[in-house]
Order: sequence, then structure tokens, then C-alpha cells
Amino acid sequence: MTRSRDFTPLVPGETIGILGGGQLGRMLALAAAPLGLKTHVFCPDPASPAFEVAAARTVAAYDDTAALDAFAAAVDVVTYEFENVPGPTAAHLAERVAVHPGPGALAVAQDRLDEKTFLREAGVPIADFRRIDAEADLAPALADLGGAGVLKTRRMGYDGKGQTMLRSVADAEGAFTRLGGVPAILEAFVPFEREVSVIAARGVDGTLRAYDVAENVHRDHILKTSTVPATLDADTAAEARMLAERIADRLDYVGVIGVEMFVLPEGGETRLLVNEIAPRVHNSGHWTQDACLVSQFEQHMRAVAGWPLGSAERHCDVVMENLIGAEAGRWAEILADPDAALHLYGKAETRPGRKMGHVNRIRPLRA
Ligand code: AMP
Repeated sequence: MTRSRDFTPLVPGETIGILGGGQLGRMLALAAAPLGLKTHVFCPDPASPAFEVAAARTVAAYDDTAALDAFAAAVDVVTYEFENVPGPTAAHLAERVAVHPGPGALAVAQDRLDEKTFLREAGVPIADFRRIDAEADLAPALADLGGAGVLKTRRMGYDGKGQTMLRSVADAEGAFTRLGGVPAILEAFVPFEREVSVIAARGVDGTLRAYDVAENVHRDHILKTSTVPATLDADTAAEARMLAERIADRLDYVGVIGVEMFVLPEGGETRLLVNEIAPRVHNSGHWTQDACLVSQFEQHMRAVAGWPLGSAERHCDVVMENLIGAEAGRWAEILADPDAALHLYGKAETRPGRKMGHVNRIRPLRA
């Protein structure tokens, strides 16, 4: 049981605890500062990028209950920047301090089977799927779904990890074992035209705000660009935002949520299928930092503090590009562009495939 029901909104000077010290935690902490809110970052990695911009830090394992107790006592609300916060950690904290978004929403997003089941029950369109608990489940499920699909582990998958594309019965041979022999789902293959996402926020009082739809391009399974506005007709864009708001509402959510969707043509119409939800600020929402009055990071801080949400209006068109690995070396060239805003994460070590920063390139609003 969370303590949200008897939650008292924070006042300036109070502290938001953040589990996870990556770039999202860093940008959350940076967004809290202008609101007069302090942040305390809890992360096992002593080299966490968020530490250098937060008022306080705890370096400890997520199952260190003494450290969690001290953290809970030192903060006024807890949030998190990654969805794989262990369930027992969230539950332990929720007995001591309000945790936003609540452990229930976190649990749904951590397990693809629970997530898909929740979405279907909420009337949200998704790709057909089957539960896969053993090698023998796979071939009949694949045949059932038309002979092509994506096998995904139920837990701990991200950026294309923990999943494999199956294009034929031959591909299915041994695929379950190769993925680790862990509980999985098989999803029907979606012949999508483009991938989009919506960042939505829900306040403690149930207020909903969805940002404009972003069109996302991935490279090597990692988000490369988010472009806003997306190439989408007005009705479909409105539907996408409505779906994100519905998901946040049904989860009794507090904070910012990222909802990834596929866009596919169907019988002359455009159809949306929700792929997955992220119970946190999301990479495809970084454009809001420079194209909106209130970014996704400030919006999340407002929501978890129990404060009124801000505007999600967009005041310019924008393309966000992730700087991956050595690409961050382009910083000087980006700084020379008057329409570009550079965001570097301060990571000590550059590694291939590692998100080192991003750039938002803005243009005047088209419409
Ligand atoms: P996910 O980890 O679920 O976000 O999937 C990573 C990427 O794999 C997505 O961004 C898609 O490009 C692709 N993908 C995932 N599920 C499907 C699907 N059912 N059909 C086709 N492509 C998919």
C-alpha cells in the first residue's frame, strides 16, 4: 500500500529522493533546482552522473535496507529514473515514505505479460501475444500468430536486449533457450510504418497532460532521433495522446510516463498499437527541454511533489538527436549552431553504444 492517499505536497526547500543516478536522474535533479526543491540520489554506482548535480547522495545497493531506511528518513517523497527498481526496494520504501509513481505501476511495467494484460484490459490496442513458459510453447504460438513474431523476455529487457525476431518456424528452434530459458512472451510481428511515443504526466489530483507526439528512429536498437511534430494526421495524433492519458489514469499514476507506439496503415486508415510503457521520464521526451515551457523533467518533479502540473504546450518544432559513444566529441560543432541546445551527461567514460548526451535542434513552429 502506498502512502499517496495521505500525501502532503512538498514545499520549496524539501527533498525529492531519486532511485538511480544515470542521465535521467541527473536531468530530474537539474529540473528540480529552479523550483527550489532539493534532490537526494540513491545509486550503487559511485560514478553516477546524477551525483554531481544533487544536494545529497547515497552510494548503496538497492537491497541495503539500512541505507534505504536512512534515505527514506532524509527525503520527503521518492521517485525513480529506471523501471527495473527491484519490487522489494519500492515496497520497503513505500512503507516509510510516499513513492511516486507507486509500486503498482512499477510492477506492471516491469513484466511484459502483466503490462500487455493491463493494456488489453484498459482497452488499449496492442499486438496480439502469447505467453511462453517453455520451449514447447513456441512453435504452436508462432503458428497461431501467423508465422512471424518477436520473442521477448517478460522481465529486464531494454534497447532490443532480451528479445529476438522470429521470421519462420526454423527461427523458433532453440530460440527460447537462446534467450535464457526464462519466462517470455511471443508478440505478433507488427509491419509498422513508423514508431512514435507520447510523454504524459498525471498529477496527484488526477490532472492529465500529454505532450505532442514524437516520431522516433532507432539505430542499432538505440533511439537515435525524436522529431516533433511526428508525421501523423491530427486525429491519429489526438488518439495517441488520449491513449497515453488513459494509461496513466488507469494506473492511478503520479509522474511522467513514456508510451511507445507503432503506427501502421490498415485498410486505408492509420492504426496505433501500443508497444510498451516506461514508468519514468523517457529518452523520446528530451525534446521537451528546449521546445516546451515545462520540460518532462520539471513536469515529473512537479507531479511527484504533489504540485500543479505545468503546460505541455510546444513553442517550436524540434529534432532531438542522441549523442552515442564518440559522437559526443562533436560538442564544439554543436555549440556553434545557434539553433542547437547541447546536453551532455558528464559521463567519465565513453563507450560504444553508451548514451553520452543529446542535442535539441529547434525550428520555428510550422503550424
Ligand atoms: P521493445 O524493446 O519492445 O521496445 O522493442 C524494441 C524494438 O524492436 C522496437 O522499437 C521495434 O523497432 C522492434 N519491435 C518490437 N516489437 C515488435 C513487433 N511486435 N513487431 C515488429 N517490430 C517490433
